[in-house]
Amino acid sequence: MEANSCNNHSNVGFRVPARVSRENRTESSVVNVAGVEVGGTGVVVIAGPCAVESLEQLSDTARAVKKEGARILRGGAFKPRSSPYSFQGLGEEGLKLLSSIRAETGMPVVTEVMDTRQVEMVGEYADMLQVGSRNMQNYPLLKEVGMTRKPILLKRGMMATIEEFLLAAEYILNQGNENIILCERGIRTFETSTRNTLDLSAVPMLKRLTHLPVIVDPSHGTGISWMVPSMAKAAVAAGADGLIMEVHYKPDQALCDGYQSLDPENFAGLMNELKKIALAIGRKIL
Ligand code: PEP
Ligand code: MN
Repeated sequence: MEANSCNNHSNVGFRVPARVSRENRTESSVVNVAGVEVGGTGVVVIAGPCAVESLEQLSDTARAVKKEGARILRGGAFKPRSSPYSFQGLGEEGLKLLSSIRAETGMPVVTEVMDTRQVEMVGEYADMLQVGSRNMQNYPLLKEVGMTRKPILLKRGMMATIEEFLLAAEYILNQGNENIILCERGIRTFETSTRNTLDLSAVPMLKRLTHLPVIVDPSHGTGISWMVPSMAKAAVAAGADGLIMEVHYKPDQALCDGYQSLDPENFAGLMNELKKIALAIGRKIL
């Protein structure tokens, strides 16, 4: 073993793919999401419901999170549900609601695209396309979103290693789309007390290996709303460039992921604490 191997990229045991590697681009990439810069000194908060359910739900939730400082609105229109009997999302109707709330609030929107056939349509409504955990290794989808020039929020596969995660991002970059934000959202382990095991060590690891911005999703990472503030604060302290969190105006009535969604009041309290954490490490909440 080399004497300085603890300072060497190669100690991860794999070759970091060329285009995502920080060795080939030392400066951190900044991804511009309709005017909101992710990857600079500011920490960006993305918030909103798991799924778009109705005009009232989206509008009330969006206004609440905007008031507290969220800069980008999230909300799924096409939902990858484990059960085919669960609410699958409003589809294009949900995209239309997102786009009308964007017009009302001025917030850019991010929403999931699950299928190559949806990329064009979702791209017409959304400012950023989310490739979800279940699709991180859907190579045709990665290539398709790579052919757009939209910002892509690439979530870590629930069973993906860091190497596989970076290779997935490389697929997108290979098509010419450099606007990629990586999202740690928890991985499957033997632990059952939380929905996933939030791998916060992925944050410093990814920041070291790649120039791409890295954000954290403590909602899916834990699956439990009372745990979200602790892990959100830890993520910012660990150097995340942003957070994506589920917030619902009435979590107990949510059609999807209510148990891990913050209500507006808890979100407001968290945003106040996040400002102090960011300040302590020389950053600020954008
Ligand atoms: C989501 O963000 O709503 C989602 C389904 O996330 P993930 O793909 O990380 O499970
Ligand atoms: Mn969800």
